[in-house]
Amino acid sequence: MKPYLLDLHPDQYPLSGYRRNQLLEWVFKRGVGSFGEMDNLPKALRDDLERDYRLSAFSKVETFPSSDGSTKYLYTLLDGRQMEAVLMPYADRTTICVSTMVGCPAGCSFCATGKLGFGRNLSAGEVIEQILYAARDQGIAPGAIRNLVFMGMGEPLLNYDNTLTAARIMLHEDGLGMSQRRVTLSTVGLPKQIVKLAGEDVTVKLAISLHAPDEETRKTIIPTAHAHTIHGILEAAREYQRRSKRRVTFEYAMLSGVNDALWQAELLADLLKGLISHVNLIPMNAWAGADFTSSSESRIQAFYDILEARGIPVSVRRSRGRDAGAACGQLALKRPDGRSSEISAA
Ligand code: SAH
Ligand code: SF4
Repeated sequence: MKPYLLDLHPDQYPLSGYRRNQLLEWVFKRGVGSFGEMDNLPKALRDDLERDYRLSAFSKVETFPSSDGSTKYLYTLLDGRQMEAVLMPYADRTTICVSTMVGCPAGCSFCATGKLGFGRNLSAGEVIEQILYAARDQGIAPGAIRNLVFMGMGEPLLNYDNTLTAARIMLHEDGLGMSQRRVTLSTVGLPKQIVKLAGEDVTVKLAISLHAPDEETRKTIIPTAHAHTIHGILEAAREYQRRSKRRVTFEYAMLSGVNDALWQAELLADLLKGLISHVNLIPMNAWAGADFTSSSESRIQAFYDILEARGIPVSVRRSRGRDAGAACGQLALKRPDGRSSEISAA
């Protein structure tokens, strides 16, 4: 198969001089979907590019708009596997949530993607194209999507190299030119990879899916907790914080009767003392067949109040796109009408 242009870092792009700049501009600034549209390149050059490279890894795209303005994109890849991205336009900023894998091997029990199992890693270009396609579909320039979260399907730090290449393409000025402060990588909590990431040339914002302050509870909902202790994760978070100088976010899905006891809020506050952090409480998003329900509004408030009183910065994430099956943890190739897509991840 022809090489996939979007897998390349801007420094590796073909052509030279101003022709190369024109090509980069078409791909990342204008976001066109075909070489044929690059009309300031000579026809012969466009034909050469067409012969030597492919510009898309998607064979089919389905779009599911939500009543709150967000849109879920269901991308079918050339091998028939599928993954999703969610675009969320807000008044002051547009955010995209991208996938790094088809499915996920981590198997968190409250997450619909985890239930799918592992399909495969996405290439860097397959991550980048999620952004380019969504921008084109919305009729906006790729640069209008200023905020990005690695919170779709998959565990980015288990697809480390491709995720990092994708991040570099996002941040490069000849690529998408995004700001490091506006790119957030969310991980289930893998200490070795977090420390490695802290040493990279890119320092994106880090979010860690803690979801419980005690080992016993964490092990019941997150299989990787058997391999990685909370202590180890917090040590790695400290290292990331120290090197990146960025506040680390801890994500905490509120699961009724599982991790929402008030002593758990107290314990969480103890754990985070002294760390420049932020806690993001996420009401559990429902999906068909889930064994969990969200904590009540009053319990979320009580949990919040404890953290706040203890001086821990805290917020509640109101997930968007719930009616399109596009909210956190709902990404599992389900159509909003409940019909499952033909192709499963595993
Ligand atoms: N694999 C990474 C990133 C993708 S998941 C990670 O786990 O961090 C993005 C966020 O959604 C994570 O914090 C994840 O724990 C959370 N999440 C998963 N299922 C959820 C659900 N049903 N309701 C609310 N949040 C959920
Ligand atoms: Fe994978 Fe994250 Fe879902 Fe866990 S929460 S199964 S790590 S996508």
